[in-house]
Amino acid sequence: MDPEVTSGNRAQSFEAVRADTPAAVDRIFLDSAGSSLPPTPVLDVQLAHLRREAEIGGYRAAYERADDLEAGYGVFAELLGAAPDEIAFTDSATRSWLTAFDAVPLADGDRVLITEVEYAGNAVPLLRRAEETGATVETIPSDEHGQVDLDALRGLLDERVKLVSVVHVPTNGGLVNPVAGITAAAHEVGALVMLDACQSLGQFPVGLHDLGVDVLSGTGRKWLRGPRGTGVLAVRREVLPRLRPRLVDLYSGRWTSASDYELRDDARVFELWENSIAARLGLVEAARYALGLGLEAIAAEVDDRAKRLRAGLADLPGVRVRDLGERQCGLVTFTVDGVAAAEVKQRLVSQEITVTTSSLSSTRVDMTRRGLDEVVRASPHYFVSPEQVDQAIAAVSRIGR
Ligand SMILES: *Cc1c(COP(=O)(O)O)cnc(C)c1O
Repeated sequence: MDPEVTSGNRAQSFEAVRADTPAAVDRIFLDSAGSSLPPTPVLDVQLAHLRREAEIGGYRAAYERADDLEAGYGVFAELLGAAPDEIAFTDSATRSWLTAFDAVPLADGDRVLITEVEYAGNAVPLLRRAEETGATVETIPSDEHGQVDLDALRGLLDERVKLVSVVHVPTNGGLVNPVAGITAAAHEVGALVMLDACQSLGQFPVGLHDLGVDVLSGTGRKWLRGPRGTGVLAVRREVLPRLRPRLVDLYSGRWTSASDYELRDDARVFELWENSIAARLGLVEAARYALGLGLEAIAAEVDDRAKRLRAGLADLPGVRVRDLGERQCGLVTFTVDGVAAAEVKQRLVSQEITVTTSSLSSTRVDMTRRGLDEVVRASPHYFVSPEQVDQAIAAVSRIGR
């Protein structure tokens, strides 16, 4: 393809996405790793549904959108390189992760491996479950790049390892973990692999089968630009029989006689009946929007902004970029010598440059190992212009001085 045509098309679609995100023009929004700005079509579908519920009631309103709701499984199957019956929707990534984790059989003496960048929201339930069952939770060391050390992993694996919990991209930095290598090693001893794809989904292509993972959880509100209170779970079909879902209701199961029930045989066994239909429709619209732009194209734009930001920050005296990893993505973390991360954030936010901080308590093992309490996190999506990135760098330079 003619490279000029490609970049021309890309520039055109970039202008269109800016038009769909009016707030991205007036302000510098660098928090898509926290809670991104939904594009207008996502907002519209939600507002329209809320109005319809107020007109005819929630049941009739949902019935009118039954086909679209069903089509949502196909949309996410396409997004995640999976089959529609491998997809379930929930109200958060954490809910997705928890309901699947709760279904993984664990007993006394079993081992669970986690990465150094494990997220607190997974670590707490892991430790609680370990306490109850007598299973142990062990951390896989990282290599010199800060990502999972595949040799160290192989050294830890034996048939007592029942689960490997992998964070694809941590909440506190740009590192991308080598998931396919981890999965291949873990499967050799029959362990299940759960992937926390919260920070990767919507940012670059993430495929359930490509990566070979058994369970994948993702959120709506971050890089996918969907509504808050939405999450997705993907479970490999062959793995379903090994899981024992416990948090089941009259949607996940059917009450067949006074003393009997039957569970669904697809991933929707992890869903409950009640949910926000407006949020679900918004989530599906967000996935359609991302697919329309193309995940490869999105990844290229995000990579461009993140590289620009990282390079600009690295050049500033007194500013330290904190991202690890051989392969890096759209989360850019840094500290400013002598200025607390919360103060840096506040000073940027007061200039309508939205960033956030990530603290020790979210990724305790990694932050402790690196002697960090808190970092500033800037996460530019494709709708942030290169000029806005430069303005953000200039604003940080004024703080550092
Ligand atoms: C944000 C985040 C989560 C939690 O997502 P929710 O949608 O809030 O449940 C999990 N893991 C990582 C790595 C995250 O950054």
